[in-house]
Amino acid sequence: MKLSKMLISTLREVPGEAEIASHQLMLRAGMIRKSATGIYTFMPNGVRVLKNVENIVREEMDRAGAQEFLASALIPANLWQESGRWDVMGSEMIRLKDRNGRDFCLGPTHEEVFTDLARNEIKSYKQLPLNLYQIQTKYRDERRPRFGVMRSREFIMKDAYSFDKDNEGLDISYMKMYEAYNKIFTRCDLEFSAVEADSGAMGGSGSAEFMVKSDIGEDEIAFCTGCNYAANTEKATSKLEDVEKEEEKELNKIATPDVRTIEELVTFFNTSNKKFAKTLIYKADGKVVAVMVRGDRSLNETKVSNALGGIMELEMADAETVLKATSAEIGFAGPIGLQVDTLLVDEEVTRMSNFIVGANDTGYHYENVNYERDFDGIVGDYKLVAEGDMCPKCGSPINIRRGVEVGHIFKLGTKYSESMGANYLDENGKEKPLVMGCYGIGINRTVAAIIEQHHDENGILWPMAVAPYKVIVMPANVKNEEQMNRAEKIYEELKTRGVDVLLDDRNERVGVKFKDADLIGIPIRVTVGKKVVEDIVEFKLRKNQDIEEVNIEDVVGRIEKEFLENSLKF
Ligand code: ATP
Ligand code: MG
Repeated sequence: MKLSKMLISTLREVPGEAEIASHQLMLRAGMIRKSATGIYTFMPNGVRVLKNVENIVREEMDRAGAQEFLASALIPANLWQESGRWDVMGSEMIRLKDRNGRDFCLGPTHEEVFTDLARNEIKSYKQLPLNLYQIQTKYRDERRPRFGVMRSREFIMKDAYSFDKDNEGLDISYMKMYEAYNKIFTRCDLEFSAVEADSGAMGGSGSAEFMVKSDIGEDEIAFCTGCNYAANTEKATSKLEDVEKEEEKELNKIATPDVRTIEELVTFFNTSNKKFAKTLIYKADGKVVAVMVRGDRSLNETKVSNALGGIMELEMADAETVLKATSAEIGFAGPIGLQVDTLLVDEEVTRMSNFIVGANDTGYHYENVNYERDFDGIVGDYKLVAEGDMCPKCGSPINIRRGVEVGHIFKLGTKYSESMGANYLDENGKEKPLVMGCYGIGINRTVAAIIEQHHDENGILWPMAVAPYKVIVMPANVKNEEQMNRAEKIYEELKTRGVDVLLDDRNERVGVKFKDADLIGIPIRVTVGKKVVEDIVEFKLRKNQDIEEVNIEDVVGRIEKEFLENSLKF
């Protein structure tokens, strides 16, 4: 492509609305333009990167034995009603009616569509296993669309659905996707890890998220410093400290006027926050639920929601509800004499001795409280793991890091096949529900994540495999006939070899052109300048500062070497 013919619109200034590097650079490099909140138009260079990522995904999915489909984004409501998700999806789902008043949605995901397809097409165990995928546009009316295409309202997803006879089959299908995802994100040159994810409410038996390490990530991941344990903090657990139970002391009610928060209590009682247990009161689908965790801990709402059977709405109780449950103002809740539908007690609390809790009486706390002797509840793991906690596998300290979820693999089991009647006939002619898995990759988000990990102050540093163009040929002075002719010759030769190459034939100062090439992030730059009279051109990689002087006869060979080093065909 000749740049003089391309609608290229790079921006020098950092657009005010963009907070993170990838969003800024996608706008500045002219990859995307905003059309409305969370809705973007991809420009030519953006499209090329998307397609490159899509193709990596497609190749690895095909290699793993999956078959490509393409479903419509427009999905009739009845499929969602059958699965029971029409009412559950809430306002994230974009709903609409056709001219006859029939309900539809723009698919946020396609489990229902593929389960429907499977129940119509799959008859016998002989057809199994199957893995069907598509690379297709999804719609989600996100509560907080942000960071450009990282979290947008329309995005391209690769979604795949596997169908097996039984759980053993599902395990194999799942592992194949696990391996394919590792290959895909490695080929995208991402530093990532597959972490255990919560699968509670979706009703599956296993799930992993592919997380790209990044400070701007919305997810927090617990990594073990000693072994390979890694889990989303929504799901992560830790090994409990060994504590020796003290001798139980007599329960004592103490006046603590105006002492409500853990910090205030720590000062008042002059002790550590680990000596307290806090009682948090929530409203969960209309019920009042209290959860106790140690004073230094935060509560893990995902774990609580799972413990309550995957409830949809968990919110902190308002003052009135707290007053009803505790007969006290906010800040004095405790387990003794509490009026709630359910009391969940974190396992750590049950191992504490002689601790302090609110007394359900404004201005009072109890000290020397002990689980079982003074109260009981449903014991479980309800806490958020924290930096320094012990790994559940090996006991080494846990580190917490941020990550961006680019992919998600999930064992669904028979949740959809049972609710939608997707069955097959087994070896004995008996009807059985298909055992399913689902597997997603956000294509646009992956592109943004690659930029997050590959950029510098001058722009994007595309890994070769996904770069929109691999080479840019730059005549330093387009008015110089020899420079122009010989640059064009290199460009033509590369094109005949099938290389994605740009010729910057714009009549601009070379400094401006270098800036654009760096911003757009083309991995290889060939400059044809004054020394062309001595048959010498400059070869430079975007990722470093070195400029190699190469004989013009050897430049294509030098580029080929770079391709081969990056395992790309030339
Ligand atoms: P998140 O927790 O970030 O909202 P999710 O759990 O809703 O993600 P899935 O339903 O598992 O995501 O979708 C599969 C993949 O689609 C995700 O791993 C992510 O890469 C991508 N994705 C999800 N929502 C968006 C979005 N709003 N914009 C861009 N990509 C998205
Ligand atoms: Mg989401």
